[in-house]
Amino acid sequence: MKPYVEMTKEELQELRKELSAQYKEFQGRDLKLDMSRGKPSAEQLDISMGMMDVLSSNDDLTCDDGTDCRNYGVLDGIKEAKELLADMMEVAPDHIIIYGNSSLNVMYDTVSRSMTHGVMGSTPWCKLDKVKFLCPVPGYDRHFSITEYFGIEMINVPMTPTGPDMDLVEQLVAADDSIKGIWCVPKYSNPQGISYSDETVRRFARLKPVASDFRIYWDNAYTIHHLYDNEQDHLIEILAECKRAGNPDMVYKFASTSKVSFPGSGIAAIAASENNLTDIMKQLKIQTIGHDKVNQLRHVRFFGDIHGMVEHMRKHADIMRPKFEAVIETLEKELGGLEVGEWTCPKGGYFISFDSLDGCAKTIVAKCKKAGLVMTGAGATYPYGKDPHDSNIRIAPSYPTLPDLKQAMELFALCVKIVSIDHILSEMA
Ligand code: PMP
Repeated sequence: MKPYVEMTKEELQELRKELSAQYKEFQGRDLKLDMSRGKPSAEQLDISMGMMDVLSSNDDLTCDDGTDCRNYGVLDGIKEAKELLADMMEVAPDHIIIYGNSSLNVMYDTVSRSMTHGVMGSTPWCKLDKVKFLCPVPGYDRHFSITEYFGIEMINVPMTPTGPDMDLVEQLVAADDSIKGIWCVPKYSNPQGISYSDETVRRFARLKPVASDFRIYWDNAYTIHHLYDNEQDHLIEILAECKRAGNPDMVYKFASTSKVSFPGSGIAAIAASENNLTDIMKQLKIQTIGHDKVNQLRHVRFFGDIHGMVEHMRKHADIMRPKFEAVIETLEKELGGLEVGEWTCPKGGYFISFDSLDGCAKTIVAKCKKAGLVMTGAGATYPYGKDPHDSNIRIAPSYPTLPDLKQAMELFALCVKIVSIDHILSEMA
């Protein structure tokens, strides 16, 4: 097939008729497919079911240091869990605090505390006229919802294949002291699956923000979520790099086991410098007597150590890999050469990002929905839900079964073709 833009009006109209018939056929199938959220499939959840067996009423729930996990105490997490998560997060155990079940909750809390109490003694953000965050786009909608909720102004920073546009980031943080943070998903990013290059990480660590309370929100949600054994992305460890660059306090690193064990029932953690951790602990000791240590212990006993976790992630990869490959194969087969869209081919994470012709994404998503396929809302990958090009669509292949996913992707590609033809025809008119 030649590119649609090179086809005549008549050729396009003819093709449009054929594709409409195929679409009608899809509508007749009464499909109920969902590719909207990055949820693990039931099959993936099954591989963690052993976690339900590692603690029973006969077990001793005492930690190595004598802590009884059934009782109150230990605000920052049991030692064994700190060691496990520290290895996962590539930091020293004394640089992390273990929280509850959700890293997003920790991020919300971090922004919230900065609003009401400031950062390491700085003016609380709520007392400032303006607070801004940089938002690499496309990005994770729930990050943007947090900053929107607190009335923080969000500034788009375009993503490049090596991470956010660092020229722009450097320039903005050096010029405006109301910029207090940047949202980052540095490895297998949501939604593009991009991992930041060494140069990008080094430039992050060497930022010279005018605001002393500027922090990099380094959400390493997909740190061990590789699809392949032999082709894995590696990231320079940001805490160590910031320290090396003389900026030890500039970063908060977040992670959780949500997509390792059970989403919503995993354990989350923050890693940061000693100064930041001291600041955080002042709030934490008021906020709670301690998080769920029984769940921490359950994770430790199930995984053993980081090697157990890595082994476990191979099982996830075995389920995820064919799904990613099916998405890419269908896109290549159906849309390759048509010049109606571009997509990423990640080596890990949970998402593939698709960019349609400008002005088509909303219509494509709506058309999918009318035939029974729910995609992430177009625009969701941008602050305020506003994609200036109306082109980005996030594809989340994890949840549907492989046969459902193949059908869903065929339908998606069909909708892309139809909407693109309509768009090109309207431009010809
Ligand atoms: N960060 C990113 C980048 C994510 O994609 C997700 C899950 N979709 C989360 C955080 C949520 O993590 P948690 O379950 O630990 O709150």
